Amino acid sequence: MASPKPCAGSPSPCDECGARCCKRFLVAVVPTDVERIAARLRVPSSSFIEAYPAEKCNCVHAPSFWVDGKENYIGLRREGSGCVFLSDGRCRIHSFKPIVCRTFPFCLNGGSVERSTFCGKEVRAEEGEKGLLERYEHELKLLRRDAVEWNWRTGGEKGLGELLGFMQGKARERRRISGIISKLKF
Ligand code: SF4
Ligand code: SF4
Repeated sequence: MASPKPCAGSPSPCDECGARCCKRFLVAVVPTDVERIAARLRVPSSSFIEAYPAEKCNCVHAPSFWVDGKENYIGLRREGSGCVFLSDGRCRIHSFKPIVCRTFPFCLNGGSVERSTFCGKEVRAEEGEKGLLERYEHELKLLRRDAVEWNWRTGGEKGLGELLGFMQGKARERRRISGIISKLKF
């Protein structure tokens, strides 16, 4: 298991911090996260994803989905004091964790990389962090579109199981399209 962030040096700042971000925040996921984690762990996505009532949480960057007649944010399940994949301050899925976990504590603001004030440690940006952040922004844009489609198509009445199937279908569709595009490049 590794520290929440892929920090260079030992001990890493995340070790010293005690994974405060993994304990504090709801980790909102995008379809490619759901598909990748389910495939790597060989478990159904319902075992690690939960719907969180919008009225009880404040998720500023991800869109909400209507599930069973209620507005929810979709994120990694939380157990005890933090993320379900946090164990003794370490991430059990470090090499394939959600993209937002890879980018935190950095974000894009007007095209520039900024650091969240929540993380007070000297966490280093990953190599290619800006590209990763741009990819995350792109995935969030697609997720917002998915949320509109889901909410409109289902009228908000379907359950979480159906929503997870919908999200994994979106991830497969995007993988197929990017495969076609990469073959067309010359
Ligand atoms: S990214 Fe920052 S807040 Fe999160 S575990 Fe590392 S040091 Fe702590
Ligand atoms: S997936 Fe890993 S890095 Fe992300 S919140 Fe959970 S324990 Fe932390």
